[in-house]
Amino acid sequence: MMVMLVEIVVQVVVLRQGWTISSGPRRRLGGMRIGAHVDPADPLAEATARHAEVVQFFLADPQGWKDPQARADADALRGADVDVFVHAPYVINVATTNNRIRIPSRKLLVKHADAARTVGARGLIVHGGHVDKGDLATGIDNWRKTFAYAEESGGFATQILIENTAGGENACARRFDALARLWDVVGEFGVGFCLDTCHAHAGGEDLVDIVDRVKAITGRIDLIHANDSKDGFDSGRDRHDNLGSGNIDPDLVVAVIRAADAPVVVETPGGATGQSADIAYLRKRLNG
Ligand SMILES: [Zn+2]
Repeated sequence: MMVMLVEIVVQVVVLRQGWTISSGPRRRLGGMRIGAHVDPADPLAEATARHAEVVQFFLADPQGWKDPQARADADALRGADVDVFVHAPYVINVATTNNRIRIPSRKLLVKHADAARTVGARGLIVHGGHVDKGDLATGIDNWRKTFAYAEESGGFATQILIENTAGGENACARRFDALARLWDVVGEFGVGFCLDTCHAHAGGEDLVDIVDRVKAITGRIDLIHANDSKDGFDSGRDRHDNLGSGNIDPDLVVAVIRAADAPVVVETPGGATGQSADIAYLRKRLNG
């Protein structure tokens, strides 16, 4: 009996120590990790300036087709106590029926996934894309071809996170009926999902219970882009605003983050001042 008791005590101590070790210094007690999309020149300095635990940036001009370049701070980024995410250029559209855009897009996406790995990125965010004329099924099949193409060279080097978008009538990840069709095809490739609150609102998907609706389709949310919207519901416009300054009830943004239980990035205006205020607001609401 005494021996059993001792064993139980030892097991409890081991379990508690294991919990302490695994929860580690990276995790804020009772809170999500929150950060911002920042200028790529010195992301770690930008993170410090915002008291951010997560940092997201571009590895090349978001409006251009240039390859990402090796970064002098790659080791520092990999070793930092900050979660790194990389956003792919906006010009990438792997869904399009225009092969002069589609082929360079999937090639560039592979290169960005390779480069994102060198900085220790936890995910490479890419917009869902769209087809120019009518046929969404072709766009979705083009997504399948993108993953098949990447698999020829061993698969994407970084976890791909498809992000919902605000505009377009033939978008793969604006409305969730399209998203469900997309996931039927790409889900098997282990793709992740990034939910942007501005894009959902402007794209015509209600933020109430949105995490449940997303998870019913994707089974996962890997990252939240917590943004207010300058424009109205279903406007189709993509103009981010600081939390509480735009058209979205900030209570809804907080509820989305709570329900998703994923890292958070604000992609809001106002530089370090504006984003620090948004991050502080979310911490106060989420930890309070
Ligand atoms: Zn976003």
